[in-house]
Amino acid sequence: MISEKMKKLAGNNSAIRAMFEEGNRLAALYGRENVYDFSLGNPNFPAPKEVNEAAIDILQNTDPVYLHGYMSNAGYPEARKAIADSLNRRFGTSFTEGNIIMTVGAAGSLNVALKTIINPGDEVIAIAPYFVEYGNYVANFDGVLKVVNANPEDFQIDPEAIAAAITDKTKAIIINSPNNPTGVIYSEESIMKLAAVLDAAQKKFGTDIYIISDEPYRELVYDDTPVPYVTKYYANSFVCYSWSKSLSLPGERIGYLVIPSEVSDFELTFTAASIANRVMGCVNAPSLFQLVAARCVDVPTDVSGYDANRRLLYDGLTKLGFDCVFPAGAFYLWMKTPGEEAEFVANAKKYNLLLVPGKSFACPGYVRIAYCVAKETIERALPAFAKLAAEYGLGK
Ligand code: PLP
Repeated sequence: MISEKMKKLAGNNSAIRAMFEEGNRLAALYGRENVYDFSLGNPNFPAPKEVNEAAIDILQNTDPVYLHGYMSNAGYPEARKAIADSLNRRFGTSFTEGNIIMTVGAAGSLNVALKTIINPGDEVIAIAPYFVEYGNYVANFDGVLKVVNANPEDFQIDPEAIAAAITDKTKAIIINSPNNPTGVIYSEESIMKLAAVLDAAQKKFGTDIYIISDEPYRELVYDDTPVPYVTKYYANSFVCYSWSKSLSLPGERIGYLVIPSEVSDFELTFTAASIANRVMGCVNAPSLFQLVAARCVDVPTDVSGYDANRRLLYDGLTKLGFDCVFPAGAFYLWMKTPGEEAEFVANAKKYNLLLVPGKSFACPGYVRIAYCVAKETIERALPAFAKLAAEYGLGK
């Protein structure tokens, strides 16, 4: 028989599969173009042309033994150097390749960070609403996820609530900005207050408490909103990055982990994290895309399409009377449900609108609408949202 842990996960997975199958069922009944699937965070814009150009050039002009061979678990030094240099130019940091580990996307990066620091029973704080996989990642290492709500007014970090949740077992807090699912970007003030709370708690308990900053949406920012670089505010920080969203490469599984030299026991931590990459079975991140990413490290993310979707959806829904958070980043709209959440999600489905319930992010009373879809999907969906709004007596 399979493990008890995996039995539980296999059971939970059916909810996600049910949503996927529901999309297919509705598409078969009404036609794909008449089903408004806002459930998945899969970028709908293709990777920029520089990605394929780099891949072809690397395949044609790199020694195949080098390109396809085993390497250091941390990844190719030249890829790590290109990333460190780019971060230093953009954020005024002073990283070298010795601070970067190439990983299998942000998911790989988060798991490496957590494996490196967690002892069984250690607590890891997540800020609700949060990306649902955090619970699974922390459980991978027999850690305990502790959920603290964001400030319900603006979904920024609530420093007092975090201070109250910290114990002598707290090992880390995972933050995610720009945020999935709210689209909120944590302000410099939020990060500074968080750093102050953690510094005080480290002193009080005599422990290390890490910030794990999950940043797959760092480049998906609108209106030039600044996204503070956490290592500049707090020494015990890890940064988990990925090109899944910024270069539309989720299937390639490529990202990195930053471990700044200021982290406690830096040398040991960096070595341990490199080994974590290996012993979890990743060994190293995919070789071709390490080199592709290194070449594309300064290719800008074109957010104009997502921005147009953001405005269209936000304006359309607020005009209908829905209460939404105006997203500053990422490609999700976070909307209050006018009635009971499960009933609202079911009612939305009557109009072929597929939305993710807030309870999937540990924050009931909301839905997440992923607008990484074709603009026409939003245009066609708005009349369906209008019918839904009318059912709830909104906009009168
Ligand atoms: N973290 C957040 C907040 C995400 O939304 C996602 C993917 O949607 C991930 C991590 C995982 O990203 P990756 O595909 O790079 O593993």
